[in-house]
Amino acid sequence: MNPVSRGRTSVGVIGAGLSGLVAAQELTKQGFCVTVFDKSRGVGGRMATRRADHETSFDHGAQYFTARDPIFVTQVDHWLKKGVVATWPDASKQQRFVVLKDGLIQRESRSVPRYVGTPAMNSVCKALSVGLEIKKQTRVTRVVHAADQFELLDDVGASLDKFDRVIVATPAEQAADLLVDFPKIKKQIEKVEMSPCWAAMVTLDAPLTDQWVGAFLHDSFLSWTARNNTKPGRNSTYEQVIVHATPEWTDTHWESPSEEVTQAMLQEFWRVTGIQPRHPIALQGHRWKYAIANEPLLDRCLKGEHDRILVCGDWVGGSRVEGAFLSGWATAEQISHS
Ligand SMILES: Cc1cc2nc3c(=O)[nH]c(=O)nc-3n(C[C@H](O)[C@H](O)[C@H](O)COP(=O)(O)OP(=O)(O)OC[C@H]3O[C@@H](n4cnc5c(N)ncnc54)[C@H](O)[C@@H]3O)c2cc1C
Repeated sequence: MNPVSRGRTSVGVIGAGLSGLVAAQELTKQGFCVTVFDKSRGVGGRMATRRADHETSFDHGAQYFTARDPIFVTQVDHWLKKGVVATWPDASKQQRFVVLKDGLIQRESRSVPRYVGTPAMNSVCKALSVGLEIKKQTRVTRVVHAADQFELLDDVGASLDKFDRVIVATPAEQAADLLVDFPKIKKQIEKVEMSPCWAAMVTLDAPLTDQWVGAFLHDSFLSWTARNNTKPGRNSTYEQVIVHATPEWTDTHWESPSEEVTQAMLQEFWRVTGIQPRHPIALQGHRWKYAIANEPLLDRCLKGEHDRILVCGDWVGGSRVEGAFLSGWATAEQISHS
């Protein structure tokens, strides 16, 4: 049934990552008729969790998040009470983040509390999906005018539906592709560039270290590593290490075979951490084309076509998980007040 026939304002949301889901939940609560589309099999976007062998999993996108804005702090407190997120590292277990260089710990890295989804990073987005109408494995390729509404088209040009309002909640380049018919808003989107990231996922049969659970890596083509199995609620039978490469190295090795890339990342991991090399049980790779915005906007929400097409995402809201949340939230506010 076309949502308009239900007599309420219909909203089509493209993207079931954090920003799209927050906007969809807020608008649903306020009585809008919302449909979410995502090209993937599951929800979460870059707050992703990859299932692996031996009943294990890796958070191979976002690693943890912080909360500073009061609106997000309130939401995180709610998730903490519900068991959807927990703090990590856990100081009561002597867990810590460090900065590593040339095999040596330079210093401990402390900041405001850091949070992760439990039992997996994608739990946050799964919790936000409850009660929403989400059409998964549905790629939208274009948004077009359709009389006084907007129509979403799929990859063969067929109509997915028509909506009174459309929210585009994808990374910047994908948003620009979707909005070719709306040059004014497209021009604003094209100001933002996003960097790629190669991720390697390593499974080992014994713990690597008791010195750290996450490490920022200096003087290396790797930027970050984490022992995923030390996060709360994870299967800790195996040592599961996630390693991220820098945007520059990822760019240079974008087209290289995954096996070659993950082997090179593993060798560099042993060097920069100073841990004696050992043979992994499993080694997988994943490349993120649009990982982090180089210079995110601070608008929270971009508006076009008399405020009826709106764009949100981490790159609009000031970057990262908190920025994505605030952007989705501000976009819902924008629609409900318009
Ligand atoms: C490797 C990596 C490490 C990171 N580390 C951290 C970290 O430690 N801390 C932190 O705070 N943040 C981190 N981030 C960033 C964080 O993951 C993002 O800021 C946040 O998840 C973005 O949410 P979003 O809703 O804006 O976008 P996304 O999560 O990208 O969601 C967009 C959704 O749109 C869908 N989509 C795209 N195009 C289409 C289309 N045409 N049709 C239908 N669906 C479409 C995608 O499938 C996706 O589900 C990291 C990201 C990566 C990749």
